Amino acid sequence: MVFNPFNWLLGLFSLDIGIDLGTANTLVNVRGKGIVINEPSWVAIEKKTRRPLAIGAEAKEMVGRTSSSVIALRPLRDGVISEFDITEAMLEYFIGKAHEQSIVPVPRPRVVVGVPKGATEVEKRAVYDASMAAGAREAFLINEPTAAALGANLPIADVRGSMIIDIGGGTTEIAIFSMGDMVASRSMRIAGDEMDVDIVNYVRNKYNLLIGERMAEGVKIDMGSAYPLKEERITTVRGRNLVSGLPEAVEISSVELREALSSSIRAIIDMAKDLLDETPPEIVSDLMELGVCLAGGGSQLHGLDERLSSELRMRAWVAEDPMTCVARGAGLILEDLEANRQFLTGLERTRG
Ligand code: ADP
Ligand code: MG
Repeated sequence: MVFNPFNWLLGLFSLDIGIDLGTANTLVNVRGKGIVINEPSWVAIEKKTRRPLAIGAEAKEMVGRTSSSVIALRPLRDGVISEFDITEAMLEYFIGKAHEQSIVPVPRPRVVVGVPKGATEVEKRAVYDASMAAGAREAFLINEPTAAALGANLPIADVRGSMIIDIGGGTTEIAIFSMGDMVASRSMRIAGDEMDVDIVNYVRNKYNLLIGERMAEGVKIDMGSAYPLKEERITTVRGRNLVSGLPEAVEISSVELREALSSSIRAIIDMAKDLLDETPPEIVSDLMELGVCLAGGGSQLHGLDERLSSELRMRAWVAEDPMTCVARGAGLILEDLEANRQFLTGLERTRG
C-alpha cells in the first residue's frame, strides 16, 4: 500500500479497520497503517469452561498436541461462523490488539468485515453481531469476492467485465463484475481444507497410513499441483500404520498428490465453467481479453493458473500477494466509506 500521510494523520484520531475473517487466516488492516495482524483463525479453549487460552498462531501450534482438557479449534467452518462465542472472543482479541497499537486514545473502531458471498442472512448477521460485540462502534459487511477483486486491483467499476476466483480454506468463490455490480457468482464448500482431506484419504486408502491434516497441508503446499510439474518430485510422509498401529513413513510422489487432488480441482474448474456458461457473451468476450484473476491461499497451488488457463481458454493469473487481497480490498473501502457504499452488502446500516 502507498504511504498516505493524510490517512496516517487521520489514523491518529480515529480507528478504521478492515477485517478478513477467513476460515483459515484472519487479517486486520488498519487505515493508515496497513495489515497489522495476519494470524491463523484458531482458538485454544479450556474444554470445561470454554475459556480461550490462546488465539491465533499460538493456538494453531497446539493443534493435535493438546491435553484432554484443552481443545484447539477453528471457530469458522466453511467460511461461516460455527462457534459464535469463540469467534467473538477471537475478533475481540484481534480488534483489541489493533486498538492497543494506537498512540493516542481513540474512540472504538469502525470495521468493515468480509463475508462469503454464499453466506445466508443469519450467517451475515452473526458476523455483524460478533463485530459489534467485539467492540466495534460501527460494523459494515462486504462480500469477500468484491473485496478480493478490489484488493487485486481488478477494474470492477468498469463497464468491461472482470472475474475473480478466490480459493480459501473453507470456500471457493467465483464472481464476475461489471459496472461495480456482481453480475454472476458461485460459491462452493470445496477449497484448501478439502484438498488436505483428499491427501489424508488418498494416503490412507493406498498405504494404510493415517497422517495428520497438518502434515497433509504441508505436502500440499510444498509439492501439490494441478498441472504436471517441470520436474516431478518425491517426499516422505509420516503417520501411523492402520494395520500394525505403529509409526511409519512412506514415500509419495507429486504425481500421486496430483491424483489425490484431482477431484477437488475438477470441482473448482467445473464451477468456473458453469458460471461462464451463464454469463452474457459480451462479458465473456471482455474476460477473454482481461483474463481471470486468482486469489486466496489455495490459488497458490502449483500449476493451478496454467491448468485454469488451459481449461477455461483464457489467461488465468494469481494476484499479487493473493492471501491479503480481501484485507487490502476492505482497506480500500475504508479510504472513503461514503463513496464506496455501493460495494457494501446486506446489514451494513443496521445498528445494534
Ligand atoms: P481463508 O480465506 O479461508 O482464511 P486463505 O485465503 O487464508 O483462506 O487460504 C488458506 C488456504 O490456502 C489453506 O487451505 C492453505 O492450505 C492454502 N494454501 C496456502 N498456501 C498455499 C500454497 N502455497 N499452495 C497451496 N495451498 C496453499
Ligand atoms: Mg478468504
